[in-house]
Amino acid sequence: MLVRKVLLRGASASRLLISNKSPPASLIPLASGCTRFFSSSTQSEGPNDGFVAGQEGGDEQPAATITVDRSGLYHPPELSHEPTMESELTKHLKGIIKFRGGPISVAEYMEEVLTNPKFGFYINRDVFGSEGDFITSPEVSQMFGEMIGVWVMCLWEQMGQPKKVNLVELGPGRGTLMADLLRGTAKFKSFTDSMHIHMVECSPVLQKLQHQNLKCEKVCNADENGEKNSVTSITGSPVTWYSSLEQVPSGSPTIILAHEFYDALPIHQFQRSSRGWSEKMVDVGEDSKLRFVLSPQPTPATLYLMKRCKWATEKEVESLKQIEICPKAIDLTHSIAQRISSDGGGALIIDYGLNGVVSDSLQAIRKHKFVSILDDPGSADLSAYVDFPSLKHTAEEASDNVAVHGPLTQSQLLGLLGINFRVEALLENCTDEQADSLRTGYWRLVGEGEAPFWEGPDELAPVGMGTRYLAMAIVNKKQGAPVPFQ
Ligand code: SAH
Repeated sequence: MLVRKVLLRGASASRLLISNKSPPASLIPLASGCTRFFSSSTQSEGPNDGFVAGQEGGDEQPAATITVDRSGLYHPPELSHEPTMESELTKHLKGIIKFRGGPISVAEYMEEVLTNPKFGFYINRDVFGSEGDFITSPEVSQMFGEMIGVWVMCLWEQMGQPKKVNLVELGPGRGTLMADLLRGTAKFKSFTDSMHIHMVECSPVLQKLQHQNLKCEKVCNADENGEKNSVTSITGSPVTWYSSLEQVPSGSPTIILAHEFYDALPIHQFQRSSRGWSEKMVDVGEDSKLRFVLSPQPTPATLYLMKRCKWATEKEVESLKQIEICPKAIDLTHSIAQRISSDGGGALIIDYGLNGVVSDSLQAIRKHKFVSILDDPGSADLSAYVDFPSLKHTAEEASDNVAVHGPLTQSQLLGLLGINFRVEALLENCTDEQADSLRTGYWRLVGEGEAPFWEGPDELAPVGMGTRYLAMAIVNKKQGAPVPFQ
């Protein structure tokens, strides 16, 4: 009942029709391969160069005979012909490799590139939208955040409408999803009054942007010695920021949202070699450039690889020459499941990924174009497919009190939550330009491939993210299966 009201609410309350701060989706340049999602079905389309040359048996994969070459580390060329424009982050990475006395894992490289507290890709700027490096669903259309709002409200009802709920968002970007969720549900006072919002964000710049987009004000908190807290003027709910989930207070029923958060978590890459599985590492070559090498010894991440292989069938693993694993995703899912087990509630994870082992998906995107993973680190986004079965197994092993549902495709999730009704309600009261933007946004959220209705230039044709993105829910069993995973 509540849900129907959210979907059919007049268009006047919408972000698009009031403020239109982000450019209409139809105006965002979108060449194929210029968003964070692909338009073709192969896993690895981004350039993957920088690997130390060497082939085994005509195989296209870099060969197993590669060994770690440290000569460049101890005897750097006296006169380098490298441009002196090397970024601070590149110097920092080379410094780590030098002082470590050997290469670092792809995961360590990825973590430094994305979240190094001084130079990380996410740390100092707004990377989203047409002016940034890539675009995400909440930025495509207000309807995305509104539909997630429907999901949260349904779960809150299933939880028995508790008076206090911790609503946690992991990696909120610009804060657009949360702002649209709150605008969409603002009329339901008992719901919004119960929400305590917790934003988990490592970037100070993005924290500030989220503060602005949630229209936060500082108010005095009478309970805590007059300390000032942030409150969003969209619903009056308190909002607090943290840099990790561990810092978010527990003890109250919790709903956790993670949209395009897991794909930014650092992955390890393993490659089949004559020695078995060898970890791919990042080293500095004799030419002083970063390059990939294979570890000659087993690495600590091998333990996670063994765990991952146990969750897969032999046939699935046999067919692969590379495997990606994400220990941080496994650890995070473990904490999410334990929190939901003890506090009640649930989590919704939406990301691009696979319902199977991920082989070779790491990609770098700068200004809406694929670039080499090792090229000018920190200036491009790095992301990898999310391995959904490993999240499912982790959650199920973490606690008997939680159940895992899905994954569904994004198209199924949004369709079942009622996005068709919402788009129709919005189309009833808008200008022609806004209608175009709504249709384009709708297609990009739920469609597959290029939009059939598109009449503009080919390079701007909206490409659907509906099947490339998957949604999985982890919920406390006492609430039953969440909408729309029943
Ligand atoms: N959910 C947003 C943004 C996705 S990009 C959207 O869909 O538009 C990833 C987000 O996670 C960014 O806000 C980034 O700063 C944040 N992030 C990445 N790694 C993080 C980490 N280890 N801890 C906290 N936040 C992180």
